[in-house]
Amino acid sequence: MMIVMTPGASTEQIDAVRERLATTGVHVVVMPGELTTAIGAIGDPQGVAELGLEGLPGVDRVVPISRPYKLASSELSHHAPSVFDIAGRTVGGGTTFTLIAGPCTVETRTQTLSVAQAVKEAGASMLRGGAFKPRTSPFAFSGLGVEGLQILAEAREATGLPVVTELLNGVHADAVAEYADVVQIGARNMQNYALLEVAGKLGKPVLLKRGLSSTLDELLMAADYILKEGNERVVLCERGIRTFETATRFTLDLGAVPWLKLHTHLPVIVDPSHAAGDRRLVEPMSRAAAAVGADGIIVEVHEDPEAALCDGPQALYASSFAEYARDVAAHAGLLGKTLA
Ligand code: PEP
Ligand code: MN
Repeated sequence: MMIVMTPGASTEQIDAVRERLATTGVHVVVMPGELTTAIGAIGDPQGVAELGLEGLPGVDRVVPISRPYKLASSELSHHAPSVFDIAGRTVGGGTTFTLIAGPCTVETRTQTLSVAQAVKEAGASMLRGGAFKPRTSPFAFSGLGVEGLQILAEAREATGLPVVTELLNGVHADAVAEYADVVQIGARNMQNYALLEVAGKLGKPVLLKRGLSSTLDELLMAADYILKEGNERVVLCERGIRTFETATRFTLDLGAVPWLKLHTHLPVIVDPSHAAGDRRLVEPMSRAAAAVGADGIIVEVHEDPEAALCDGPQALYASSFAEYARDVAAHAGLLGKTLA
């Protein structure tokens, strides 16, 4: 932490800050400048933050130097980029590209099994599908619940694809953990800290989506909630954020991908479907995601999007998914990655 004094701060005021800092055991370095004095506090930033130095006479501001996230950081923890295994698939690490595809929502057994087969044949690495759906309106279809999880398990059985599905509420945690290979935390729950801790304890990899209006620092602190439970397999997902632009459903923040690559060791994937809200944009945005270095994509696919109960306009047609997958694989290939 750095404590910046006001230009007129007296020697007594500087000494008072120095004495307060000394009570926390940090190493204190006083740096007099031409106009102002800065005091560096090296060590426990949390302890320094809790001193409330902003209120002392002569203190202008207290500035954190290190990043607020710890376990997700590539700076503070050990870390080369994380690579891990999810049900036999490698995620992260710079040589594989994880293509997760499937319906927004499990609607029926037939719908789910047929789309699972189509994405499997086209080279997808995992199957996505929601059984518990967060819906903006409480009157919209909110998923089949446990029956949906059972259908997903059947689709895994039929295709061999690991299953990614959302945990919406801690009360469903045991059921989701029983059937899912990857537990998704949706954008709307990124800051549901109690749910993050529950997800962290399940012993399953977690796909953590960025909140609709969350900064990347907040995303990484949310990841820390999962990591601190001893769960190292966290995959981050950029899925578009709220901006003044309404032409697309959300604004895909592609800069987030290389920024996250610099600041965290965790794998980063992109969801072009929810960002776009329109299937015509999904393929070009997917190419871009591959080109900026994403470790994968999670994308919505449906056999009959016009009849979908949720997010039909953004779903790719299952019949053209193979072509899409070839195109995305070619772009991932430009960065030396192959479909996992
Ligand atoms: C989803 O993946 O189906 C979903 C609801 O995504 P998000 O949480 O990003 O809106
Ligand atoms: Mn959806």
